[in-house]
Amino acid sequence: MLRGSFDDVPLTALFPLLTPADVDALHQAADAVDTARAGRATARWEWAPEHAVLPDGRPGTPVVLGLDVVEHAGGGDQLEFLLQVVWTDQGQLAVDAAVNVACWCETDHVTHDVDALRLVVGEETSLPGAFRIGAERLTGWLADPHDADHWRAAAGLPPRRTA
Ligand SMILES: [Zn+2]
Repeated sequence: MLRGSFDDVPLTALFPLLTPADVDALHQAADAVDTARAGRATARWEWAPEHAVLPDGRPGTPVVLGLDVVEHAGGGDQLEFLLQVVWTDQGQLAVDAAVNVACWCETDHVTHDVDALRLVVGEETSLPGAFRIGAERLTGWLADPHDADHWRAAAGLPPRRTA
């Protein structure tokens, strides 16, 4: 993965079908996200040029472009907000937005996605359209981030255990 500001992202190399208007729309959505996370200690945008075309036979959902906003990490706990453009199992591009928290279950699952939105890009949803909706979800979370226990409670997961 390469990392940098959104201006560094080679959008038309990652997504060759984008029109100039599409590129503008992606920048507008990313600007809103960058504004929402201003003042936070966060990761930067990440992208994988080798995933611009669907990786052959690779399991999982390869990430093409993403942002991982770490709201809280430490003491064994974790709260992250993610916005990613990925390849689905069906070979379609999709935009994922997710809240990810550390797991405190009896059985250790490491982390959980406690709120997640996936928008598959297709005839009815453009990549910029899906990205904008995902970005709006992310900025909404960042405006009202709560703590990790709030998200675990909302998902019916056990709270953090303190020694
Ligand atoms: Zn768990």
